[in-house]
Amino acid sequence: MPQRTLGDFQLTHFTDGNYFLDGGAFFGVVPKVLWERKLPADESNRVSAGLNSLLVRTGRHTVLIETGMGNKLPEKMARIYAQPAGLLNNLASGGVRPEDIDVVINTHLHFDHCGWNTVNRNGEIVPTFPNATYYVQEGEWQYAQEQRERDRVSYISDNYDPLVRSGQMRLVRGDREIVPGISVQVFPGHTRHMQAVVVRSGGETACYISDLIPTTAHLALTWVMAFDLFPLESIESRKAFYQAAIPGNWLVAFTHDPDVAWTYLQMREGKVVPRS
Ligand SMILES: [Zn+2]
Repeated sequence: MPQRTLGDFQLTHFTDGNYFLDGGAFFGVVPKVLWERKLPADESNRVSAGLNSLLVRTGRHTVLIETGMGNKLPEKMARIYAQPAGLLNNLASGGVRPEDIDVVINTHLHFDHCGWNTVNRNGEIVPTFPNATYYVQEGEWQYAQEQRERDRVSYISDNYDPLVRSGQMRLVRGDREIVPGISVQVFPGHTRHMQAVVVRSGGETACYISDLIPTTAHLALTWVMAFDLFPLESIESRKAFYQAAIPGNWLVAFTHDPDVAWTYLQMREGKVVPRS
């Protein structure tokens, strides 16, 4: 597992594996001849995307950001997305047991971001991380309850409702600190209430920016996903993010990049690019 320090904290990248997405949906209105240079598509127009989680050890808390796709998808969806279900094995290989996790942060509640929140044990949905307090934005959870035609397929109740009912998942409103050095910041666009996770220690900053910028192929301001509910807001949120992240020298962690767990960013000839 790629690992590094950030001030006094330790960051480790864990993946749930790779899955398939339709390339057109992943890149919105961007012409295929352009995006395909960055992320090649197969004969079914699918691209391979990662399911990246970030583990932060602060010394006091062990915090897991995002829980991938999990292993509970209905059979048809599991086939379509090639549900990889690798996160728990990868955590175990890295010496992390489910009971070690103190905090789980979901950036939003799409099934590919909170799938391992729970597991089905003999027909009962139970928390995968028994000692963790889980966090998500209240507005995101409320929206998930609405089950709107456009995206209800993305919201699978078993990933969060049992945790909300038991009180193990806390619904937060707006930007706030979760544990010392780790805070959430709402960036609307992909969904109205999607939150990024900002990690600060020893004068250094990292940010798990989630689906606002899913991969390093999506760095251009207008390369927003067709999945985004509010694409104009995604562009404004990206502007605000870059204004903080580039001069602030933030390490940026990518949720769906199959190759790049994190990188610094820079401006080159008017474009945002990974810092080489
Ligand atoms: Zn999403």
